[in-house]
Amino acid sequence: MPEQGNTPNRPEPAPSQLEREENQLWRWALGLLVLLATAVAVLSWEQLKNLPYRLWAIPVGLLILAVLFAVYAFGRRREVGELKYLLKNLQDRAGVMPSDQQLDQLTQMIARSQRNFKELIDSLDDAALAISLDGTLRTVNRRVTEVLGVPYSDIVGHKLEEFLSTDLRAESEASLSRFLEKRHWAGVVEIQLKSGTRPSYYDCVVNAIIKSDEVVGASVLARDITEQREKERRFTQLFETLQEGVYFATPEGSLLDVNPALVKMLGYRSKEELLSLPPAGLNVEADTEPVLGRTGSQSGSTRTREIRVKRKDGSVAVCVDTSTGVMDAGRIVRYQGTLVDVTEKRAMERQLRRQEEFRRHLLESFPDLILVLDLKESYTFVSSRIRDLLGYGPELLLGKKIEEVEENSPELVTLYRSVANGQNSLASSEYGARHQDGNWRTMLGTASPLLDTEGKPAGVIISVRDVTMEKKLEQQVIQSERLAAMGQMIGGFAHELNNPLTGILGMTELLQESETSEANRKQLGTLQQQARRAAEIVQNLQYFARPPAPGRSPVNLSELIQRTLHLQAYPLRKSNITVDFLQEPALPPVMADPNQLMQVFLNLILNADQAIREGRDKGTIRIRLGRNPDSVWVMFQDDGPGIAPEVLPHIFDPFFTTKRPGRGTGLGLSICKTLLREHGGNIEAATAQGGGAVFTITLPVTGAGPGAAK
Ligand code: ADP
Repeated sequence: MPEQGNTPNRPEPAPSQLEREENQLWRWALGLLVLLATAVAVLSWEQLKNLPYRLWAIPVGLLILAVLFAVYAFGRRREVGELKYLLKNLQDRAGVMPSDQQLDQLTQMIARSQRNFKELIDSLDDAALAISLDGTLRTVNRRVTEVLGVPYSDIVGHKLEEFLSTDLRAESEASLSRFLEKRHWAGVVEIQLKSGTRPSYYDCVVNAIIKSDEVVGASVLARDITEQREKERRFTQLFETLQEGVYFATPEGSLLDVNPALVKMLGYRSKEELLSLPPAGLNVEADTEPVLGRTGSQSGSTRTREIRVKRKDGSVAVCVDTSTGVMDAGRIVRYQGTLVDVTEKRAMERQLRRQEEFRRHLLESFPDLILVLDLKESYTFVSSRIRDLLGYGPELLLGKKIEEVEENSPELVTLYRSVANGQNSLASSEYGARHQDGNWRTMLGTASPLLDTEGKPAGVIISVRDVTMEKKLEQQVIQSERLAAMGQMIGGFAHELNNPLTGILGMTELLQESETSEANRKQLGTLQQQARRAAEIVQNLQYFARPPAPGRSPVNLSELIQRTLHLQAYPLRKSNITVDFLQEPALPPVMADPNQLMQVFLNLILNADQAIREGRDKGTIRIRLGRNPDSVWVMFQDDGPGIAPEVLPHIFDPFFTTKRPGRGTGLGLSICKTLLREHGGNIEAATAQGGGAVFTITLPVTGAGPGAAK
């Protein structure tokens, strides 16, 4: 604010607008007084006294107006005088006297500029004030009145300390002499207002007000930076207390600043020690780019990566580094980032991975297959052992519901549910599982509940063992025991029946001889025929039940097949199966154990019977015989479904069966093959042209002549 100087000498009067205005005012004031005096002179006292009350206002008003005009004109006169004095000075210096018009313009300009200046400093957001050296406020802008909450008139002329709790004096006195010398000061001041609750911070610029080369006061421009200070304070607090390491670095990788957490993380004693490292001082491998720098990178974008940093003791810290470039004028001037030490985490992850790997190996090398199912009946884990056991990989089951998997029999579902619904805490059961090759295997599953970390049921674990072999052996033992018992029984029956039948035959023969009636003889003939048939059956039964002969004898194959068919006649009839058997009486005998060969034929007939019944309600078994130069062959052909190409290579394997557990043992054909091989012969299987299966047996021909069959 410009100083209001005193007006020392009256300037020379000059015609100017202001002067004209002033003269006009004087004239008005004079005119009014003359008017008033004339009125008083014309009117007598009596007349005046009788004037109506309202008309009195006119002379009084005129008088006041005249006084006001006079006062105002006096003020203008002073102002004009001062200006003219000022201009006179200017003119003295420039040597040119401005014209009256120029003077008028100047006056108006100054008036306007004063107004504008006042508006300008009032519009400032910063506080502006002029203060004398003793601390008296000379002028302040609007912002100061707002901050102090006091009107302008109550501020100007008062001492600054009246408004403050802070004692600025001690400090200002100390720096006053320096200020008087430099005439300028800038800095941050903490101020506690009497009206305020907490201190505020002002960034101040103080300039000296000089008069006649002497400092008479100071102009102060102060910006409130309390909020910024608060933010800085909070940032500093965060920087100092953060657990993550924080750093500022140059693009070349030199550290500019670090927080205490980073100093500790890298094992340094002090921040200064860490900051004094050369750019690549944290590198684990020498000769590489500084680990925290980004040489050549032009992008300031945030980058997160895992880095290895060398600690003071030489050990390596694995850290996640997230850094951002700070740009200035299109150039990266520094990097700021955080480092999070994940060394332990990574070590733990490695440990976990190792454990996981160990567990996986354990499960894989475990002889049992492990199945894990959740409570929604879906497979969540299947060990890869399944491939050895059932030929397919875990992916066939994973994610599927237990019921959806057709490769397993329903017993597995029952086993799972008995544990899943809490009925049993440990249960085991046998179930059938189909191998990829179509073969059904017998599995023994043991189920137990799977608990989560809180001990609540989360699913079921089933460990599965392939017990097909054990089962088959078990069945074989049972079967052979059963057969032995049956053989004994049949042998006993046959023996028992043989005697009465011999009696019946003998008696009918005798009766036939003595009988004279033709009709009776015919009936006795039928009786004898039926008794002979019965005797034949009994003989066959005895043959079957007889323990294997230790040696071999010449066997007539045609006859042996006929006997076998006789034994099976009833079951075949029941199955609606016709046997198309073409005998070959001229066939040479083979040296064989007839009991064993009968077993082979019986097995082929039984298999054909089962195969036909699988798909239809009647069928035919075709049996043919023939000879090659040194061998004879027998062919059994049925019109059942035939043998699938993928099954064909396995049917002679022991225990191979496509039948459900309980229906087949998978031993029949393998025993046949073994027996025939022992006889120097063979058996082969194929699919017939019109479907169905064909089994061909070959046996070497003996040197014995025909008719030696047994
Ligand atoms: P099992 O009859 O107990 O299954 P086998 O060794 O006798 O054992 O037979 C093995 C497999 O050969 C049978 O499961 C079946 O798949 C197949 N097979 C045997 N005979 C026939 C046939 N006549 N027609 C179709 N397939 C057959």
